[in-house]
Formats: sequence, structure tokens, C-alpha cells
Amino acid sequence: MSTLHYWNYPTEIFCGPGALETVAQRCKLFGMRKPLLVTDPGMLALEPFALLTAHLVNADLPFSVFSDVASNPSMDDVARGVAAFKEGGHDSLIALGGGSAMDAAKGISLATTDPLGLERFEWSQVIACYPSLADFPRLELPRLIALPTTAGTGSELGREAVLTHSEQHIKRVISHPELLPSTVILDPVLTRGLPPALTAATGMDALTHHIEAFCSPLYHPMSSGVAVEGIRLIQQHLLAAHADGQDMIAREGMLVASAMAAVAFQKGLGGVHALAHPLGARYHKHHGLLNAILLPYVLVANRAAISADISRLARYLELQRPDFEGFLDWVLDLRQRLGIPHSLSEIGLDSSAATWVGEQALADISSSDTNACALDAADYTQIFRNAVQGVLQGVDA
Ligand SMILES: [Zn+2]
Repeated sequence: MSTLHYWNYPTEIFCGPGALETVAQRCKLFGMRKPLLVTDPGMLALEPFALLTAHLVNADLPFSVFSDVASNPSMDDVARGVAAFKEGGHDSLIALGGGSAMDAAKGISLATTDPLGLERFEWSQVIACYPSLADFPRLELPRLIALPTTAGTGSELGREAVLTHSEQHIKRVISHPELLPSTVILDPVLTRGLPPALTAATGMDALTHHIEAFCSPLYHPMSSGVAVEGIRLIQQHLLAAHADGQDMIAREGMLVASAMAAVAFQKGLGGVHALAHPLGARYHKHHGLLNAILLPYVLVANRAAISADISRLARYLELQRPDFEGFLDWVLDLRQRLGIPHSLSEIGLDSSAATWVGEQALADISSSDTNACALDAADYTQIFRNAVQGVLQGVDA
């Protein structure tokens, strides 16, 4: 290898039923005097919020709650969170929820320390100024403890925050190595209330992370290995977690697979996410659901570039037909058994903005160097049209 690579692996993780009970101890160990608990409004009436707040109260740890967070968190949500952080005299953060709470908390952490941080560390700025994670300036961000209640985004183990620019209707990816939470709590008890449709959509998001990372041409063999085993865990556990939300073994398997995916996608994501980001910003559809629908169409568009790797993966998964077609069939069958629609038209999208979608996908971080093959805006427009119509064909067809 003639190119210098920078690899930096994750953070401390407590995993298993009861991991929640370590939160106050970690707060005290790290000198977190008064954390701001960031969550989404839907979480306030749910068991994970009750469990966590009872635990913090029992431990005599003062905290307050910020829950003014949209399902696709915006820069405005972050600005309100920064005000709450400062007005409340907080010194640290706890994020409880899915990707929206995690990303909002990361945004607050950054913006409260560096008022221009959301601009400076936006992806397109970052690649020009900070070629690798090793090049970022130290910011000493407030400590963040992350407790995911879904098994999908993997944001708890990521160094990025995805925030929507409310006026421009685009999602902006903010990157900084210190956005990685200092402690991650993977407690399957926190995910047992997740309804089947969300279990399916978030689980397919995690699967997409692993597959896109695995197919990325960037050189990161550790992440490739994590992706392969992460996909196997999803093969083992997703249908069981979907069928029975109380199955704690399946829930833990999916939580671990989801977190692993964020480690895998240090290798990058690809065309599925490049399309899902603008579609999510414009149509406000669930990120995981968009990925789940788009995945087979991007796989087919990338077929020539990924066929050999996918065949190796299919052998590891012990699929009946260990090649690209067998893997594609497995994805389609899994998707169907989870009740995911086959086309974007089934969730109300049409092709009227196809050109805009193609341009936005090309401009997305995930389409840069990390999709398996080079795709241009016309290719993305074609993939989007295919996904709207439910036609599985390559971009040259
Ligand atoms: Zn995703």
C-alpha cells in the first residue's frame, strides 16, 4: 500500500440488558455535573425515557430535558438546543432516542462550543480543509453519552451529524472526530417497544450501511470485516426482532449490528444514501424506509463493480445461491417479509423532481469517492426513476 491511511476506532461501549444502569456512574467518573438530556418529543411518554430519568434521579444527578427535536433534526432545532444548554448551565449531554436525538445532541455539542462549527465542519468544507480525521482541530466538545432506542442509524458510534437546512430542503452532513460519543450504552431493553414497521425500516438502514460500506472502494480492511459480520447478525436477528419485539436476544443482536455499521461506514457509504438524503429532506419520509426501498436498485446499478465482493459475502452468509443474483434475491425476500414496499411510488413519490434528485444525489457526501463505481447525476436520476416505477434494471439499460 503506497497511500497513507488514517484509522481510528471507536469508543467505550456497555452492551447488554441493564447497561442503562451504568450511565450515572460514567457521568460521575467523567465529571459531568449537569447533563442536558436530548430526546425527541415522542420519547417523553415511553419506557426508555422513564427508565433513564428514574435512574438519573436515583443517582442524584441534576439534569434537564430538551425535546424540541424534529424527526429529521434541523439547524433550527440545534440552535434552540444550544440556547437551552447555555441557559440551563449545562456542561455535558446525554442523547436518548434514534438518529434524530443523537444528531441533534451532536449538533448542540458542536455549536455550543464553536458557533460557526455547523458551517466549518459541513462535509463540503471539511474535505477541502481536513483531508482526514487526523487533521481536525481539537475543540474539547462537551462530553456526550449516547443511548440508542432504535437499531438502525448507528449514529451513537458515528462522528457525523445529519441536520436538515430548513430553507434549502437539504440535509447537511457535519463531521468532526469529537462528535463521537464518549460512552455508548447498547441496552436492548431500550428498543423493545419499537413497533414492527420501525424495527423493519431501521434494521434495513443498518443493513444498507453495512452493504454500502462493504462495497466502498476505500481501503479499510478492518471496517470491511466488521461489515461482513454485521450483515450476518442482521440475517440472524432482523426477522426475529420484527416478529417479536420482546425477543431480547434478537433485539440485542440488532442493536449490536446497528452500532457496528457505524464502524463499518468509516469506509464510506454509497448511492443508496446519496439518494435517500435529498429524498428525506424533500419528502420527509423515514430514512430507513427510503434506504430499504432504494437498496436493490442501487445494487443493480453497481452490479459490475461489486459482483465479486458480493459473491464472497453471499458465501459467508451461506445463501443457497452464493453469487450476486442470490444476494439480490435474499435482499428482496427480506424486504418483502418485513412488509417494505418495492417502489417509491407506493409511498407517494413520483418522478416529477427526478432531475433535481439526481443533482442532489451527486452532490451528497455518499456519492463522492465511496460508491462502488462512479455515477453521474443522470445515473442517479435514472436509478430514482427505476425505484419510483419499481423496475430493477441497470443505469445503462
Ligand atoms: Zn442510513
